[in-house]
Amino acid sequence: MIFMGTGAAQLVPSPFCDCAYCRKVRASGDRRNIRGRAGFQIDEYNLIDLGPDTSYTAGLFGVSFRKTRNAFYTHFHTDHFSYANWENLRMCSEPISMNVWLSEAAYEGLNQANGFLTACPSEEFIKNSRFFQEHLTFHPVRAYETYQTDDLTVSPVWATHGGQFPGETGLNYLFERNGKRFLFACDTGLYRESTFEFLSGKALDLLVIDCTFGNEPLPENSSHLNCELLDRMIRRFVRDGVVTSDTEIYATHIGHQCGMLHDEFEQKLQSLYGRNAHLAYDGLKIRDF
Ligand SMILES: [Zn+2]
Ligand SMILES: [Zn+2]
Ligand SMILES: [Zn+2]
Repeated sequence: MIFMGTGAAQLVPSPFCDCAYCRKVRASGDRRNIRGRAGFQIDEYNLIDLGPDTSYTAGLFGVSFRKTRNAFYTHFHTDHFSYANWENLRMCSEPISMNVWLSEAAYEGLNQANGFLTACPSEEFIKNSRFFQEHLTFHPVRAYETYQTDDLTVSPVWATHGGQFPGETGLNYLFERNGKRFLFACDTGLYRESTFEFLSGKALDLLVIDCTFGNEPLPENSSHLNCELLDRMIRRFVRDGVVTSDTEIYATHIGHQCGMLHDEFEQKLQSLYGRNAHLAYDGLKIRDF
């Protein structure tokens, strides 16, 4: 498994920003502080989110998307989806076909708003969209239902997060395979009760979770997490038997507001949650689940 992009939407450092943190990152000389937009490869067959940087970071990290069978989209904010990645697929000399998993509202939005891809569809655009119809099989999914694809059992749950399209709510995904469980929990704020209840008792082997704001204070109804809200999530997960002493925890989706460079951030997570807790960085490979 590899983290293809661990930054929030603004990127880290944020190119148009001159805040103290972005300046510190530029001067740090540590690649782990430089974060592209969201993307995660479960294995050579399965991807989660394909942000605008993932086709490029694939090259940097020696990753191929050639065997991709499933792309799971949490939501269609522009740091998690880029039309350019689908164009990379179309321009490939022998394009592959893949399944695209997304929420029902995102599917509706994509269908209705072809105009978001080009303001004024040209003949070429119409030809290209025919390509997508032939090579992408869309699977609009519902939260708290369970789907099977190849050897993965997938249960989408509601995140506390919006999306690009009208009525779109972000999804997080619970993956199960060979008796192991992995929850991909970003983007999200504090979960709603129905999501906590769905996950209750499902002990995780791996948790990848939002911590966009780090040390920056946040209201409790935020659509992202900081360390304090992350702590409330983890405490609840521990109470519900979702996080155990064996769960590996990786915080990701880091923003320039977080206040801590990589080492300091990771030390904070380890002081709170022990040696199983880490801060992800772009290109970090972790044990397959
Ligand atoms: Zn995001
Ligand atoms: Zn900044
Ligand atoms: Zn988002």
